[in-house]
Amino acid sequence: MNASEILKKDAANIWHPLTQHKTAMPPLAISHAQGNYLFDHEGIKYFDAISSWYTCSYGHCNSTLISALQNQSQHLHHVVFAGMTHEPAVNLSEKILSILPANQSKLFFSENGSTSVEIALKMAFQYHFNRGEKRLAVIALDGGFHGDTFGAMSASGLSVYNGPFEDLLIKVERIPVPTQHNIDEVLLQIDRLVEKYQFASFIYEPLVQGAAAMQMNDASVMDKLLSRFRESGILTIADEVMTGFGKTGTYFASDQILTKPDIICLSKALTGGIMPMAITSCTQEVYEAFLSDDTSRGFFHGHTYSGNPLGCAVAGAAIDLLISDEIQDGIKLINNAHALFAKRLQEHSLVAAVRHCGVILAFDLDLEMQRYGNERNEIFQWFWKKGIFLRPLGKTIYLVPPFTTTAQELEFLYETILEFLESR
Ligand SMILES: *Cc1c(COP(=O)(O)O)cnc(C)c1O
Repeated sequence: MNASEILKKDAANIWHPLTQHKTAMPPLAISHAQGNYLFDHEGIKYFDAISSWYTCSYGHCNSTLISALQNQSQHLHHVVFAGMTHEPAVNLSEKILSILPANQSKLFFSENGSTSVEIALKMAFQYHFNRGEKRLAVIALDGGFHGDTFGAMSASGLSVYNGPFEDLLIKVERIPVPTQHNIDEVLLQIDRLVEKYQFASFIYEPLVQGAAAMQMNDASVMDKLLSRFRESGILTIADEVMTGFGKTGTYFASDQILTKPDIICLSKALTGGIMPMAITSCTQEVYEAFLSDDTSRGFFHGHTYSGNPLGCAVAGAAIDLLISDEIQDGIKLINNAHALFAKRLQEHSLVAAVRHCGVILAFDLDLEMQRYGNERNEIFQWFWKKGIFLRPLGKTIYLVPPFTTTAQELEFLYETILEFLESR
């Protein structure tokens, strides 16, 4: 099929995510992808500067990951995970637990970031329920994003899209993102909230709030918040769906914060963008609250594709890549280059705020703009024509390149960004 046939059939049959079809531009037809590049049907290549929504951290069609997928597909592609188990899941569990914060002890499988959050929230509610406490509310950060299913949507603070569902959401109280300046006030606010409601959990994106346009939070201040919740018996849930697997410079963002979470949500780069898979990990203490001679105290949650062997095999191979010297060197290279470029950007008159953490670099243009408005689309188009795929969020332009990005490719990204700023 050529591109125009694809677009015609697409328009006839398909409803795309996050899209207002009345006003949206037609989608771009992608023919294939290799390494750090996407290719259109004319064979023109585009650098994938956001790793296809933070998933393809090892590049597209990575040969190690593809062989893991091919090998596994010869033996066992799917089997029921309730009452059965298999080697790929067990292998993966050992690998993940060896790099997760040491307090994590059990893994629960699902298929996407939203379900990993849904599972975390339900785990926390039932943890208290099983201990005879009715705790039915959640605390979350302003501007947090946790997914689009009901529980995850309730916890998300980007409420512009939640209008039709507002009365159906679970009870969530929101607190400001803590900073060196407001931390005492935020702690006071928590004291007041804890008197008013019984909270089951606190959910947060450690170090970087992705959908809030890569807003960053301070590890030492976050630590104060987490200890405060620990004192109140409120379980802490780190949503590392975006930050997990090396993006902040460490394996997990939680590695950089002293107090470790009770529960961690993982997805996106878990399989390097090859299979949809997610994991919710928890401490032994959380797990043990579900052990009982009473069957109903178990966690009766499951998805058909839980623990899918293909996903497990690829995720296991992805962790081998993540801990390899080659990938760790790649992360350091990007981190160091971003730090230097951030300094250059700071001096630019059109740039309002520059932030950087690991392979994530973001800056705001010094003007107001709608999140997905026309002006934003023009910026998208400008970079697309230059051979770069990035997705500005309103006035924020950000990069989350694959760990396989070379120094030359980084230079190309940076120079193109400077050229864009000069063109304004
Ligand atoms: C993407 C994302 C989610 C949702 O994951 P899906 O796989 O899109 O459901 C949840 N939390 C964070 C922090 C995310 O970045």
